[in-house]
Amino acid sequence: MMYDAAVIGAGPAGITAALYLVRSGMSVALIENGAPGGQILATAEIENYPGFPKSVKGWELADLFDAHLAEYPVVRVRGEVSAVEQAEGFFRLALTEGEPVEAKTVVVCTGAKHRDLGAPGEDEFRGRGVSYCAVCDGNFYRGRDVVVVGGGNSALEEALYLSRIVNKVYLVHRRDAFRGARVYEDKIRETNNIELVTKSVIDEICGGPAGMDSVIVRHVESGETRTIEAEGLFVYVGMLPVSAFLPGEVTKDAVGFILTDAEMCTSVPGIFAAGDVRSKRCRQVSSAVGDGATAATAALSYLEHLNA
Ligand code: NAP
Repeated sequence: MMYDAAVIGAGPAGITAALYLVRSGMSVALIENGAPGGQILATAEIENYPGFPKSVKGWELADLFDAHLAEYPVVRVRGEVSAVEQAEGFFRLALTEGEPVEAKTVVVCTGAKHRDLGAPGEDEFRGRGVSYCAVCDGNFYRGRDVVVVGGGNSALEEALYLSRIVNKVYLVHRRDAFRGARVYEDKIRETNNIELVTKSVIDEICGGPAGMDSVIVRHVESGETRTIEAEGLFVYVGMLPVSAFLPGEVTKDAVGFILTDAEMCTSVPGIFAAGDVRSKRCRQVSSAVGDGATAATAALSYLEHLNA
C-alpha cells in the first residue's frame, strides 16, 4: 500500500503529526520502535505541560496521547526504520525486519537517546550500577546512596525524583551554574538529601563483581580528588539524535540533529522533521507537540501540490 504519510516515531511529536494528518483525511502509517510516548516514558513527573497544574506522570501522559490517536484509523507499524530511499514521487522506508513501508511524504520524529559519560568503568558497570533512567532503575537503590551526573533539566529533575526514593543523592556537575530550569535548582537546594558537587567531573567508576560501589570525582580547578561511595550512577549528560538512518541529502548539524526551516521542512522536499531529533534550542514535550502539528501542516501542503 502507498500511504500518504509515514510518520517515524511515536513520541509526542510523532503522535501529534499522525493525529493532524489522519484528521485531514490522509492515510498514515506510524512506525514505532518501542512503546508509544518516547522519552516521556522515562520521565517521572511532567510539571510544565499545560493542562496539568498538579503535574502528570510521564507514563500517564503517554497513555493519554496514545488513547487520543487510537480514535483514528492510523496504521501502527512496529519496527525500526533502517533506511529511507527516495523513489519516483514517493519514499521507501526499509525496516530492520519486515516489509518496507512506502509513502508520499515522511515525517521524522525519532527523537534523541542518552549520551554516554565516557568515564572509565562506564561500560563495565552499565546495568550493574550505571543507569540512564531513574524512573526505570531508581527503585533498585531504595534507601541507598546514588550519584547523578549532569547539570541540565534531566539531571535536576531526576535528582529530585531519586531523592524521594534513595538515602542520599550526590549531584555532580562540571560547572557551578546549572543549565536546567531555576525552579528545579531551587527545589534541589531545599532538599536535605541532595549534596551538590559542583565544578567537578567523574574520573572513574569503581566496583567489583557485585557491581559499582563508588566514583572518583575530581574538582576541575583544584584538581583535588574525592571518592564518593555510592551503588548507583545516573548519567544525564545530554542527548544524541536518532537520525543515522536518513540519507546524506538530509542536512544535519555537526552532532546529527536535523536542520529544518520554521515549517519543519528538511533539505529534502517531502521529508519533514519534528521534535527532539531537530536541531533547535528548546526540547520540551510542548515544543515537540508544536513541531508535530507544524510538520503535519507542511506535509499536507506538500501532498496537495504533489496531487494537484
Ligand atoms: P542538556 O540540557 O544538554 O544538559 C546536559 C548537561 O550535561 C549539561 O549540564 C552539561 O554541562 C553536562 N555535560 C555534558 N557533557 C558532559 C560530560 N562529558 N561530563 C559531565 N557533564 C557533561 O541535556 P538534558 O538535561 O538531557 O536535556 C536535553 C533536552 O531536553 C534539553 O533541551 C532540556 O531542556 C530538555 N528537557 C526538558 C525537561 C523539562 O523541561 N522538564 C526535562 C528533561 C529534558 P554544561 O552545562 O557545562 O554544558
